[in-house]
Amino acid sequence: DSAAPDARLLGADDAQRLPPRPHAGHKGAFGDLWVLGGAPGMQGAALLAARAALSAGAGRVYLASLADAGALPAPAALMQREARALREPALLATATVVAGCGGGADVAAELPAPIHHAARLLLDADALNAVAAEPALASALTARGRAGRPTVLTPHPLEAARLLDSSTRAVQSNRLEAARALAQRFGAVVVLKGSGSVIAAPNGPPWINGSGNARLATAGTGDVLAGWLGGRWAALGDTADAPLRAACEAVWRHGRAADRAGPHVLIADALIDAMLASTA
Ligand code: AMP
Ligand code: MG
Repeated sequence: DSAAPDARLLGADDAQRLPPRPHAGHKGAFGDLWVLGGAPGMQGAALLAARAALSAGAGRVYLASLADAGALPAPAALMQREARALREPALLATATVVAGCGGGADVAAELPAPIHHAARLLLDADALNAVAAEPALASALTARGRAGRPTVLTPHPLEAARLLDSSTRAVQSNRLEAARALAQRFGAVVVLKGSGSVIAAPNGPPWINGSGNARLATAGTGDVLAGWLGGRWAALGDTADAPLRAACEAVWRHGRAADRAGPHVLIADALIDAMLASTA
């Protein structure tokens, strides 16, 4: 039927209700997260996502690099491997994978293993473009959703349009419907980014984010969102609502940091620091 879903406005109270970090927790208790991306010339995107994931609370963060592993100056807490390390099902069985940031065309070849085996999977940027371009990846992702394996997709409007075989204009003219269609098709939590980001799960009413502004319209802010969301999700673990909660918290905090920032723009590095500093 064509009834519009009853959207809810996402505010601080909804976004912040996350369980506290247990007092005696250790890094092994907060999840291993892999960022798959960083093709030559685009390594900054993967680094931003990895730094954001660490800042959001993931226990251990690895960069599965599509360029030379170890070539980048990276935070001390970050381990770099070659992307093919992620072809190992046993490793993926407990991992959160954030794929696509600075992925380029080469990320497609590394996606089948995470789609089949990752405990938690977030697809952004070039990983979404690969799914839109390759029917085999799209059907593997659909099968993952049908099997009830948790997935989050974070498209901007053009990425959503490619996935829906539609246009940016059509997506933007009905953002709630576009997010809902993607969520149902892939059995995923979908964040349709942009002014008033929409967060939709396969079931239940969608959220519309009430924070954020055009200071976020700079390169790298999407990579920060993907990494932060994945880091939160890794730390929350495997309750049924963890992907939706992590998505709501990340999207809201991301926008809130921009609302509290100075008058012009907020570059992506500073955005991570601002998100860390933002308490409410
Ligand atoms: P991307 O398009 O992947 O670079 O991601 C950009 C990020 O910035 C997303 O989280 C968007 O929701 C956010 N963003 C960009 N422009 C705006 C805007 N005008 N208002 C609010 N959020 C925005
Ligand atoms: Mg992006």
